[in-house]
Amino acid sequence: MADQNIMEKIVSLCKRRGFVYQSSEIYGGTGSVYDYGPLGTQLKNNLKSVWWQKFVIAREDIVGVDSAVIQNPKVWEASGHLASFTDPLVECRKCHNRFRYDHVEEIQKLKVKSQNNKSKFKIWFDSISPEQKSMLKCSKGGEHEFTEAMDFNLMFKTFIGPVEESSSVAYLRPETAQGIFINFQNILQSTRVKVPFGIAQIGKAFRNEITPGNFIFRTREFEQMEIEYFIKPNKEESEKSYQEWVELSEKFYTDLGIKKENLRIRPHEKEELSHYSIGTSDIEYKFPFGMSELGGIAQRTDFDLKQHERVSGKDLKYFDEETGRKYLPYVVEPSLGVDRAMLAFLVDAYDESDGSDGRAAGEVTLRLNPRIAPIKVAVFPLVKKDKLPEIAKEIYRKLQECGMSAYYDESGSVGRRYRRQDEIGTPLCVTVDFETLNDNKVTIRHRDTMKQVRVHKDAVWAYVEQRVLNPEKFFK
Ligand code: ATP
Repeated sequence: MADQNIMEKIVSLCKRRGFVYQSSEIYGGTGSVYDYGPLGTQLKNNLKSVWWQKFVIAREDIVGVDSAVIQNPKVWEASGHLASFTDPLVECRKCHNRFRYDHVEEIQKLKVKSQNNKSKFKIWFDSISPEQKSMLKCSKGGEHEFTEAMDFNLMFKTFIGPVEESSSVAYLRPETAQGIFINFQNILQSTRVKVPFGIAQIGKAFRNEITPGNFIFRTREFEQMEIEYFIKPNKEESEKSYQEWVELSEKFYTDLGIKKENLRIRPHEKEELSHYSIGTSDIEYKFPFGMSELGGIAQRTDFDLKQHERVSGKDLKYFDEETGRKYLPYVVEPSLGVDRAMLAFLVDAYDESDGSDGRAAGEVTLRLNPRIAPIKVAVFPLVKKDKLPEIAKEIYRKLQECGMSAYYDESGSVGRRYRRQDEIGTPLCVTVDFETLNDNKVTIRHRDTMKQVRVHKDAVWAYVEQRVLNPEKFFK
């Protein structure tokens, strides 16, 4: 199946089954903004809660925050976001790097001038800065494909209070990271964290992207899951922590079922590094539209805290009780996009049968890891009579009351009901049949193997819970 075809099928499945809708669709939509339907919301919530469980609840050294979307504009002055995005910019449609339009124009002119003579061109090319080189060559290969130049600010602007004047301008945050840095002192004073420690945040971010696209891959409103991990201020510590976070971040995806061969860790070239970074790696996923960034791990040094110290005039240093020294810690940042992750999980789980596995050719199974599957278990009565619905509903309600996301379905043949659940990734289906009336047992059918087992109806909860919380068992 052609890759682009898979993308179209996923977009269509998402709409048809209630994962993702175009936002404001009845009004013709909003450019590159999406709403999540019942299943998409549940899937996204599951992803976020597994991440939070793994990196905040299960760790002694990481605490969480939930900072405001609208922050004092000085935050963006300190972070560099205000200054970097006020010039006329062009963006490459392939690598999404943005450059000052006048800088690109200048370097292009120089290139044309020296191009006639090969050796002259080489001397000239060797003499220009890495940044200038990156304007001439796309990191994705070949020439850049630039958009029109725009006087462009990536941040969405708004006004605080009733008067729309320059003194009341504010911005919607373009990343969650700064909300962590500006609370650094609050966290130090209100908790007992000691370096090394991390602060985690999950939340919305907004970017007025000039080249959005590829469904929920690049949107103007999205969610991020970020950790700022504070360490002693030296390059060795930074490098060590960075390697750890690269591994942990990759493991987050593979533990939840992404195939390792579809992931790639791509360290940034020197000229590609952001101004604040001494080392960055992207975690890329093999999307149907090409290898693209899922998340990144950056060594941000003490750049952000230093900047906030300078602009706020406040002392943000950490006091190290062991050494009696005060310093600004270095920071390593693992950052990932929730919406992109969700798309990667959908793509990776999408499986269309070729007819050789007992399913009809073309039937779709979303092989989502049970931890993130939006519905964990569906309950069916074989027929709509002879007390079977009553027993099935009782099982269904018990599962719901115990906090299990369950679904009750009594319409159509059982085969069709299985297919409907396979298509949305439900790991287990429970069927109440005539035998149940004699032996109190129900049939539990596994999505991936289609294996069926008989379980006592009072043991359904325990069976499902074990398989959903311990997915290794599910795959056996
Ligand atoms: P890209 O190069 O794709 O624009 P970026 O390098 O600007 O991404 P970061 O600033 O490092 O992205 O943001 C961290 C993460 O947030 C990204 O890895 C991605 O998962 C997510 N993200 C960033 N921009 C968007 C967007 N417009 N839509 C959806 N997710 C995004």
